[in-house]
Amino acid sequence: MNGPSLPGPHLPGPIDPPARLLMGPGPVSAYPSVLRAMSAPLVGQYDPFMTASMTQTQQLYRQVWGTTNDATVLVDGTSRAGIEAAIVSLVRPGDRVLVPVFGRFGLLLAEIATRAMAEVHTIEVPWGQVFPVSTIEEAVRRVRPTLLALVQGDTSTTMNQPLDEVGALCARYGVLFYSDATASLGGNLFEADAWGLDAATAGLQKCLGGPSGSAPITLSPRAVDVLRSRQRIEAGIREPDDPDASDFVRSNYFDLGMILDYWGPRRLNHHTEATSMLYAARECARVLLAEGRDAVVERHRVAGAAMLAGVRGLGLQVFGDVAHKMHNVVAVEIPDGVPGEEVRAAMLADLGIEIGTSFGPLHGRVWRIGTMGYNAQQDAVLTTLAALEVVLRRFGCSVPPGGGVDAAADVYRGA
Ligand SMILES: *Cc1c(COP(=O)(O)O)cnc(C)c1O
Repeated sequence: MNGPSLPGPHLPGPIDPPARLLMGPGPVSAYPSVLRAMSAPLVGQYDPFMTASMTQTQQLYRQVWGTTNDATVLVDGTSRAGIEAAIVSLVRPGDRVLVPVFGRFGLLLAEIATRAMAEVHTIEVPWGQVFPVSTIEEAVRRVRPTLLALVQGDTSTTMNQPLDEVGALCARYGVLFYSDATASLGGNLFEADAWGLDAATAGLQKCLGGPSGSAPITLSPRAVDVLRSRQRIEAGIREPDDPDASDFVRSNYFDLGMILDYWGPRRLNHHTEATSMLYAARECARVLLAEGRDAVVERHRVAGAAMLAGVRGLGLQVFGDVAHKMHNVVAVEIPDGVPGEEVRAAMLADLGIEIGTSFGPLHGRVWRIGTMGYNAQQDAVLTTLAALEVVLRRFGCSVPPGGGVDAAADVYRGA
């Protein structure tokens, strides 16, 4: 910008992002080895190396999800691509879908199910709370849905909805159970098989420590049966009770039946698998499993506890039912008289640290601070708290000197 003017067309230089510590609710700083994986050379779509890497990625994600599901693949696109693929593939127009909404992403599930022409029923709790399983059961009994769509961790409120009893409940009523685990997978316990999930989707840019752009998905045999019956109907092999093919929302890109055929042994051409994103997704799972699934959850638990103690040590209040908070994000009340957006801007401009703003009823009320993936570490937690202290003081907020860093360091010392 300030250099000598160039002759001819004005070309920007090569991309050269500033160093940032991404401590918001996602995206977060990627593991260095994930970035290195993304710069690996490309191979052809059916190169034996490519198909072998796809198969390895499936095996890795079965372990990440806690499943033996054959149908464990990636959907190319951000987390929302996984959500949309799951819903449009499992729901037929007119099907009843129940969405317990406890934050913004529940509203998204309801919106996508509405676009898929489902009959959508929602139940709600105030932001900052989760549902007791009895409330979900009561609604299932009343609505009798085909599909229950439930977010696990909603970053908009930081809450982690317990799922462990929901699968058994769905099985009792013959309901398919889908969860969006984008924000929580990797940093909080998730057990696809033990908890009775029929479908679950995620993204890389939260606790998995990669860039957005790939959506891991797993589908139970029961969910795959639903897809296959659709494919049968669409191929014109109708059974007497089956609806017409014209009754379906017919996405091509998000047709999970076709996506499974592409990943499966027949490797039927569908899209061109996004090679660099496959490398990234594979590396995200590999670093997680190399450290150990339980060890990574524990690292997130400690980092989250340290950040929580730290913001409290600065005299700040925390939003929501903290006992049900995800490990990896905390919502911090903006003190009265403090300009929340100016604090965020100063954190970024002067210290290179990004923390999050918030949406809907929490807009202007809380900052969201994440401790996820590569940044669920003591240095990132302490650096962020030190920076927040400095900036808060600059904006006239009297905070105990060292109160945040000391409280967080104490958590690490005790862990
Ligand atoms: C962050 C988040 C997403 C993000 O979706 P993208 O399409 O990757 O932007 C989806 N669901 C939940 C619950 C999230 O927290």
